[in-house]
Amino acid sequence: MDGVCLDGVARLKPLIVLGITGSIGGQALDVAARLEIPITGIAAGGCSSRLLEIAAANPAAAVVVAAPGEEGEIRCRDVLGDRVSFGSDAVAALAARPGIIVVNGIVGAAGLEPTVAALEAGNRVALANKESLVVGAPVVIAAAEAGGGEVIPVDSEHSALWQCLVGEPVEAVRRLILTASGGPFRGWNAEALEDVTVDQALDHPTWNMGPRITVDSATLMNKAFEVIEAHYLYGVDYDHIDVVVHPQSIVHSLVEFTDGSVKAQLGDPDMRVPIQYAITYPQRAPAPVTPLDLTRTPLTFEAPDLAAFPALGLGYTAGRLGGSTPAALNAADEVAVAAFITGRIRFPEIAAIVAATLDAVEHREITTVTAALEADREARDIATGLIESAG
Ligand code: MG
Repeated sequence: MDGVCLDGVARLKPLIVLGITGSIGGQALDVAARLEIPITGIAAGGCSSRLLEIAAANPAAAVVVAAPGEEGEIRCRDVLGDRVSFGSDAVAALAARPGIIVVNGIVGAAGLEPTVAALEAGNRVALANKESLVVGAPVVIAAAEAGGGEVIPVDSEHSALWQCLVGEPVEAVRRLILTASGGPFRGWNAEALEDVTVDQALDHPTWNMGPRITVDSATLMNKAFEVIEAHYLYGVDYDHIDVVVHPQSIVHSLVEFTDGSVKAQLGDPDMRVPIQYAITYPQRAPAPVTPLDLTRTPLTFEAPDLAAFPALGLGYTAGRLGGSTPAALNAADEVAVAAFITGRIRFPEIAAIVAATLDAVEHREITTVTAALEADREARDIATGLIESAG
């Protein structure tokens, strides 16, 4: 590979970036440009101007639009001609191309199928799509085993755990410790949280992300999902996965070993670092990040308040039940967060709706993508019904 800064980094496989118009997709473009990695395919949900702009800048990339609508399909076809194809099957087919790395930055359960397709084809998935593991972990794990693909996490916490675990025997792990920023309402009690506004919930102190994940960070539901993902990624049981609140978001997560040693991965919050690492692993490549200044601000840690933020406890409950229950947790939360953002329910009702949905759903094993998506739909219907009957 050319470029002085990349001396010593072996040639990297071309990238397929799913969810190209989102936050992860945009940052993956930055990483690819800097590391001079060709992008051979991109996918988005709709035929937006942003997609067409990225397609124009990457003329060699195949383009897939999952759900363009009638107008979008005509528009995309006009501009892109034969380069573009449509539908979720085409997204999965793109992810299953041989000899590539898939960056999955799709938001939502639609991300599961391409993850499975990529793994079955033996590809690496740099995974930023939470639903792949929260909704369909048993299917994802089976696909990796069958096809020889691998999941390298992109989420900052799971990337930190991955980096701490490199070279360590799994039986030497005593505890995974996920850090949480605590969100904008850290230190608030349940009573104060009653009056939280949508704008307040969308204002995250350290990370700049999409609206749902920002609200999920405010409720700690995002951390609940991360606990479940960590369980499936590292095979550690829920009794040995802890969460600690760390408002500065500098320590991205930690691993405690049986000899009492604790390893942590640190850095200023910048998603391009874990995206890049998931692509270059087991190598490292230079990145233009702000050097960490440990003297700038004290690093503090505190226990999460499970009474004020019950979503975290729901994550452990759903995770321990396993099977279809984490899918229900995710689906109910998505519905409840949408209802909160549109002003139909109050902030504390998000967790309440999710809890009531978990009580109402049937718990089953999940062995196919279809079954996982069915569990997702069922929980969605139940949560929607609960919100309608409450309103
Ligand atoms: Mg995270």
